[in-house]
Amino acid sequence: MKLVHSRAEFAAARAADPPAPIGLVPTMGALHAGHVALLDAARTECATVITTIFVNPLQFGPAEDLDRYPRTLEADLDKCEAAGVDVVWAPSVEDVYSPGGTQVTVAPGPLGEELEGRVRPGHFEGVLTVVAKFLNMVRPHRAYFGQKDYQQLTLIRRMAADLDLGLEIVGVPTVREPDGLALSSRNVYLSAEDRQHALALSRSLRAGQEHAADGALAVITAATGVLAAEPGIAVDYLELRGADLDEIPEHGPARLLVAARVGSTRLIDNVEVAL
Ligand code: AMP
Repeated sequence: MKLVHSRAEFAAARAADPPAPIGLVPTMGALHAGHVALLDAARTECATVITTIFVNPLQFGPAEDLDRYPRTLEADLDKCEAAGVDVVWAPSVEDVYSPGGTQVTVAPGPLGEELEGRVRPGHFEGVLTVVAKFLNMVRPHRAYFGQKDYQQLTLIRRMAADLDLGLEIVGVPTVREPDGLALSSRNVYLSAEDRQHALALSRSLRAGQEHAADGALAVITAATGVLAAEPGIAVDYLELRGADLDEIPEHGPARLLVAARVGSTRLIDNVEVAL
């Protein structure tokens, strides 16, 4: 496994023309089994696996957790090595963004203002901009993203299609703890008590799924009921949408999404619901 930091070092590694297809797994580090599932999928399907570890300031709002976001490079490298990654690129902010700051960015369109975008203005513009930059610098054939961040995955697919990026975007199912909690780098912020409260998110999504045969209203009612019974969380939204986060279909695949604050930590989760 090769570890590179600077933009020039990465460019040299890429110029060596590693075997195709090249799979990219972009991350912010603090790697857990969810990230490893993406690395495993890439390892299975690609001749070369490249991962980036970069905490992207552009996608954090001024009041968000950029400074306290967990940074665990040594442990991350062990996980990458074990997963058979070929190249880890861990650039600095200066390696990624030009000195004058970024003036040209990727606009996510209307979906970027909804759900997460309503609570985190500018978030998806920051995500799409950094993903577009990494896709341009790495030039992979496939890029892997988790369904855990379903709106992000949807917007990245949309960006790839609308801007003709010419690569395949692969979505990987969410990895969960045995009790249902979706793995997240932010779970380390949760106290033991918070963690108990946080289980209401996945429980509400499961309750919704269980009512799929009774239609959209029954799904929403069941999921809302679970959240309302949990005093330890502040819900930002619970929404049922179509599979592309468009209108809810009468029948077919839909997505149930939730976001809530538990103590000082904000968590998101989602599941497929087969209406
Ligand atoms: P992050 O480091 O949080 O930016 O996440 C990097 C990638 O890992 C994103 O594509 C996430 O959707 C994905 N990811 C994060 N948590 C999980 C999980 N529990 N299961 C599957 N993928 C995940």
